[in-house]
Amino acid sequence: MENFRKIIQHNREWAAAMKEADPDYFRKKASKQEPLFLYIGCADSRVPANVVTGTEPGELFVHRNIANLVLPSDLNAMSVLQFAVEVLDVKHVIVTGHYQCGGVKAAMAGQPYGLVDHWLQPIRNVIRWNKAELDGIIDEQQRFNRIVELNVLEQLYHLSETPVIQNAWAKGKRPLLHGLVYDIHEGILREIATGVDSQEAADDLAARRLSGVPAGPPPITGRFPTVGGEAFADAIANRVAEKMGHGNTPPKP
Ligand SMILES: [Zn+2]
Repeated sequence: MENFRKIIQHNREWAAAMKEADPDYFRKKASKQEPLFLYIGCADSRVPANVVTGTEPGELFVHRNIANLVLPSDLNAMSVLQFAVEVLDVKHVIVTGHYQCGGVKAAMAGQPYGLVDHWLQPIRNVIRWNKAELDGIIDEQQRFNRIVELNVLEQLYHLSETPVIQNAWAKGKRPLLHGLVYDIHEGILREIATGVDSQEAADDLAARRLSGVPAGPPPITGRFPTVGGEAFADAIANRVAEKMGHGNTPPKP
């Protein structure tokens, strides 16, 4: 009970200090919220969204869950996303993972944990899809770190595929998507992918999240290369159509 009372005590001290600095602080905050950012992060207590981003009340719309997943089946996350983009008109959506993530570690382990195993399955998929790269990382810690990064890329890609983001981009609105990893040892937010602003950029992201390309700034524009260009892609499409008995594909308008 003593620890709980401390929270209430700290709250009173904080509120008093804020009011002393600006008597209108809470009146202004209560009247409206106009956050520029939607932050999607892990529930981990060591990664407090406002603290690590240096933001104040009203600046960050926040959704957190175990291992910062963005799943279309998650009604909570999808509702938060829709409200943030379509009502609050946030300009940036940030997925933030973190090293030493217990959720990712549990997904890496070969033992059952119960209900949470259902939740963590998408991370196991990330591990399976990137097995070739991950098997090449001998150091266990580096492997762990890399899975955290790949998970952020995967969730960022999920985000880009949601109807909310697709609709916003189609209307020319620009929630930029960013993927960060919080380095829990240094207190630093590392940029894994930033400025994803279009379907083309999301396609690049799709290539990176599965190909083992090391983390780094992604290209902002340009689709990932098709071998041989468009003619080659058309030839492949024709071959598939022939095999399926549909004949040649119609010419592109
Ligand atoms: Zn975590």
